[in-house]
Amino acid sequence: MHDFKYKNNKFYCEDVKVEDLAKKFGTPLYVYSYRTLTDHYLKLKSAFSEINPLICYSVKANSNLSILKALIAKGAGLDIVSGGELFRAQKAGCPAQKIVYASVGKTDQEIAAAISKGILFFNVESLAELKNINRIAKSLNKITRVAIRINPDVEAKTHKYISTGKITNKFGIDLVSAYKILLLRKNFKNLKICGLHIHIGSQITKSEPFVEAIKKVSYFIRRLKDQGISLEYLNIGGGLGIIYDHEDPQTAQIYAGQILPLLKRTGLKIIMEPGRFIVGNAGILVVKVLYIKNTPKKKFIIVDGGMNDLIRPALYSAYHNIWPLTKVSGAQKADVVGPICESGDFLAKERLIAKVKEGDYLAVMSAGAYGFSMSSNYNSRLRAAEVMVSGNKAAVIRKRETLQDLIRNESRTF
Ligand SMILES: *Cc1c(COP(=O)(O)O)cnc(C)c1O
Repeated sequence: MHDFKYKNNKFYCEDVKVEDLAKKFGTPLYVYSYRTLTDHYLKLKSAFSEINPLICYSVKANSNLSILKALIAKGAGLDIVSGGELFRAQKAGCPAQKIVYASVGKTDQEIAAAISKGILFFNVESLAELKNINRIAKSLNKITRVAIRINPDVEAKTHKYISTGKITNKFGIDLVSAYKILLLRKNFKNLKICGLHIHIGSQITKSEPFVEAIKKVSYFIRRLKDQGISLEYLNIGGGLGIIYDHEDPQTAQIYAGQILPLLKRTGLKIIMEPGRFIVGNAGILVVKVLYIKNTPKKKFIIVDGGMNDLIRPALYSAYHNIWPLTKVSGAQKADVVGPICESGDFLAKERLIAKVKEGDYLAVMSAGAYGFSMSSNYNSRLRAAEVMVSGNKAAVIRKRETLQDLIRNESRTF
């Protein structure tokens, strides 16, 4: 469900004609719908209202301050994975007590900053990290809260690059090691181990892997209770899939129906960390057709946005629908490619695309998550501008970069 649609053959985001935005702000351009963004958050919130979980939006999916602010205003917390995201969280006005922090590679500096700000807890990914957080907390004379990220060894049935809950992945701690850590918890004098965390992957379209993972940790929680070890939080991570093509992902309601009984039985406070589910379908990438190129074997629609703007097709073979901003009759089979000097630089392959011509605009759909946040300056291209639409209003929430931005931190010493 989203607020991007045609009216009289023109493509709209809410009540704004997207072509007007493309002309005014240039392309490539990210366009977000405020309503779609906040609706997705509220859908999840209402599906789980019975247990009133803390929904910590996963900042890395789209870390623009205006996106964060919009969600924080609705009551969301944030899930961060770096000191940079901690900085963003604070700039966006997120209360520290609504921030949870995961990552297998937290540095001393990042840990100290998060302790000092007083985040809700760290999601700890190894014994070495646990010891390090304890050491840093001690040096700061603080008791800090941590949750153990469990690697539940489940198959998330998603792309292997975004599967994180198999025992061969780098994430989390296996149950046997976690058990040992919890038995020795008193040794970590400056830590309060207050919960468990799982996050088994991303773009998961069926409930079964979630159910399997939650069952495993629930059983573990019961075992701990028998040992007199009681916890306060269960953080079930993110990973909810969305529609890119013809997926039929679980809705918030169905997801809740499947896991609520399990969650209630734990008796713990629940935290979730959705990213893609909230922002994925709330954004599009608008590009302009530069050239139509016919070769002996293929047709290429060459556009002004590429893998530096949206790397998902190149990185994950991801599928994105591509629609024209003005409906035209007829279709052509083509590859939609960017200007980058890499054969992996494509947005679509062998796709039936509307019969657009040079100068026309295309909307790359479902680009709100892991779009701009993964963009780069490769080929010294300027990162795109971002615009948020609400009703009939539109505002730039990130300016297009300038040539000066490209070299800002460089010197000409040699
Ligand atoms: C990336 C990430 C998320 C969000 O994943 P989505 O698939 O976007 O919902 C949540 N938790 C952690 C720990 C993550 O690394």
